[in-house]
Amino acid sequence: MDSKSLYARALALMPGGVNSPLRACKYVNAEPVFIENAKGAYLWDVEGRKYIDYVFSWGPLLLGHQDPAVNAAAHEAVDHGSSYGAPCLGEVLLAEEISRIIPSMEMMRMVSSGTEATMSALRLARGYTGRNKFVKFIGNYHGHADAFLAAAGSAAGTVPGTPGVPEEVISHTLLAQYNDLDAVRKHFETSGDEIACVIVEPCAGNMGLVLPKEGFLQGLRDLCTQYGAVLIFDEVITGFRLAPGGAQERYGITPDLTTLGKIIGGGFPVGCYGGKREIMEHMAPVGGVFQAGTLSGNPVAMAAGLATLKRLQECDYPALEAKTKALTDELAAILRAKGKPVYVAQAGSAFTLYFSDAPVTNMAESGRCDQTTFGIYWKQMMAQGIYLAPAGFECAFTSFAHSDEDFEKTLAAARAVEF
Ligand code: PMP
Repeated sequence: MDSKSLYARALALMPGGVNSPLRACKYVNAEPVFIENAKGAYLWDVEGRKYIDYVFSWGPLLLGHQDPAVNAAAHEAVDHGSSYGAPCLGEVLLAEEISRIIPSMEMMRMVSSGTEATMSALRLARGYTGRNKFVKFIGNYHGHADAFLAAAGSAAGTVPGTPGVPEEVISHTLLAQYNDLDAVRKHFETSGDEIACVIVEPCAGNMGLVLPKEGFLQGLRDLCTQYGAVLIFDEVITGFRLAPGGAQERYGITPDLTTLGKIIGGGFPVGCYGGKREIMEHMAPVGGVFQAGTLSGNPVAMAAGLATLKRLQECDYPALEAKTKALTDELAAILRAKGKPVYVAQAGSAFTLYFSDAPVTNMAESGRCDQTTFGIYWKQMMAQGIYLAPAGFECAFTSFAHSDEDFEKTLAAARAVEF
């Protein structure tokens, strides 16, 4: 079996040969490799080639692949049945753990993906406030629900317009550049009594990593409070990654609602939204805002998620952050020495190396980075067994499974790149 022939078979059956667009590697002008196995910090493709992983399923696997405690919990759960469609112990335990670590999540609802979490949080904010409009940031990605596809980041940003989304749906989405508090203030001044919520990636990860400027999140908090709008932190990437309690712990700002995904499922399909009791009690069956799910609170995902969160409590976040910073600083130095301008964004165990000589604080600046150079870098890193997201507008993740030797090998690979 080889990736090339599998890709040919996949192309006949799936648009682009994939089940999620970025995987096709179109933006680096390459073909995907098909993965067969993963353990710790490593992936193996179907041809037996080994890679040091910096994608980790796009974020969920902060402990690395097949963490023994997570694996054991998932196996044990499967042995008790894969899905009940009924309440179970695991969902109570995971919800208690999440609420303990992220106190703003007084109540929550489990769903099966980040998309479902944000889509439901928006519906709840609208149902709670009785307002339709909401503010979203250009280049933030909140999953693929219609309303969020306006100026979305990640792969959605590469699609011209929003075909398939009715104009009326998008007309309620008010856009602002990330980090531009004045633009948000103007929306509130013009339509303050119609704005249900502001949704934001508190540290953006879908236009490359973009850090919030000092005062930006506090400013959003203040505007939402002033105008009676709901502040939603989309922590699908940042939750349990930027700090045990996510971006809200790291930056000390408390949102009204939070959306989670990825890490809280330990690699199994999961999402979650939650926040203030007063708002959450508008959800059916207590209130009238409807949302449901056949696999919601799935016992295997709950068990893997709980085991992940418990293991993370033993992990040294500051140490991983320091190692990640050292890695990214050195990577940038290596590439700069080859004559390429590089701007590094890094927070916790997430980073992006932008081929740019200017800082990146929003989508407009991210969009100006040199994607051609990124493509050359990506291909040569892959060829040397360094697995990076196949687009310059994504972030890379380190994990607690990476060793110093893995980072050394990564640096050695970067030294060998030729432009
Ligand atoms: N929100 C953010 C911030 C994300 O990064 C993503 C996915 N990368 C989503 C929501 C959607 O999550 P999912 O892919 O699980 O639907």
